[in-house]
Amino acid sequence: MKLALIGFGQAGGKIVDEFLAYDDAVDGGFVEAAIAVNSATTDLKGLEHVPQQNRVLIGQARVKGHGVGADNELGATVTEEDIDEIQGAIDRIQVHEIDAFLIVAGMGGGTGSGGAPVLAKHLQRIYTEPVYGLGILPGTDEGGIYTLNAARSFQTFVREVDNLLVFDNDVWRSAGESVEGGYDRINKEIVERFGLLFAAGEVGHGDHVAESVVDSSEIINTLEDGISTIGYARETVDTSGGLLSSFRGEEEFDEGAAVNRLTSLVRKATLGRLTLPCDVSSADRGLVVATGPPEHLNRKGVERGRQWLEDETGSMEIRGGDYPRTGQDEVGAIVLLSGVTDVPRVDQLQQVAIEAQETTETVRANAQEEFSSLVDTGGELDALF
Ligand code: GDP
Repeated sequence: MKLALIGFGQAGGKIVDEFLAYDDAVDGGFVEAAIAVNSATTDLKGLEHVPQQNRVLIGQARVKGHGVGADNELGATVTEEDIDEIQGAIDRIQVHEIDAFLIVAGMGGGTGSGGAPVLAKHLQRIYTEPVYGLGILPGTDEGGIYTLNAARSFQTFVREVDNLLVFDNDVWRSAGESVEGGYDRINKEIVERFGLLFAAGEVGHGDHVAESVVDSSEIINTLEDGISTIGYARETVDTSGGLLSSFRGEEEFDEGAAVNRLTSLVRKATLGRLTLPCDVSSADRGLVVATGPPEHLNRKGVERGRQWLEDETGSMEIRGGDYPRTGQDEVGAIVLLSGVTDVPRVDQLQQVAIEAQETTETVRANAQEEFSSLVDTGGELDALF
């Protein structure tokens, strides 16, 4: 499906940059336009693939290109004030060519955390195309303020978008990795999963007509509302021609193997690490996409995987299809679970955020009291005026 990507803040911009590189590398064709919005000049300068004219600096009057720090209320304010600057960049997009907007932002910081929900609300008012969010949750070790920002932003963002796709940095970090190196790796994981899904909805890959190619309306229907998470599993296959053997008996055997492989990949994708871990049975809708060389994909395999997911989720709304990729030596399964409601990480995030908010309020009140008692002499000294 064709997307207008808008990366908000540092994380959002870097991930959109990575989406552009990925779309190019796989010849996906799902990025129709890419915009980066930030209140920090240096972050915009650091991008490699987003075109210069699509890099929008906001909040200049207030923060002079230095960013809003981790103040997401300020991030929201400067976005409201400079929404026309962002709209100016969106005006250059052929909106009738896109299937949806996707706003990408780290939820724990300032600019993206505060600005992404404001932009979502604005786009919803103006356009009829769906507006999706891709929200990145902070690691639990990032501290109270990031958790508080993320919880408040999450609550607002989910209300303003048609669907919030979520990626939790916390479950994807590795011990012993530098923060930057870690993000580079994580961003590739993010882009591969979400990129494969969106590329799957983009028809016209090579000359192979698949049995049941996924189209963008199936993705849009699955993303009807709520929160989504993605699972992905893949396996290297022998592409030396075994499946194309002209011996009938061998052909049947191989087809059975391909069906089993696809079914087991759907299970692995669902039960392995999701972008946001959740209780799978709480999903309202789902989409299974089989990807790989066309000769290794088959309707029966996707159908079995789809049925398995129906049993697992108890949902009657599980869609399935192919995304054939000629010349690949891997077969994969992408599982999109949408409308999930049993998500322990979100409960935990909100709990820690409420505690952080209470602590912040107490500290602020105490500080005010202590300051007053420091300055106040009980009327024994007169101020100058
Ligand atoms: P902003 O520029 O004020 O919007 O804030 P940032 O985007 O720098 O940071 C917000 C949060 O995003 C951080 O707390 C991290 O959890 C996360 N983050 C920052 N950079 C990256 C990145 O490159 N990749 C990922 N996955 N997360 C990031």
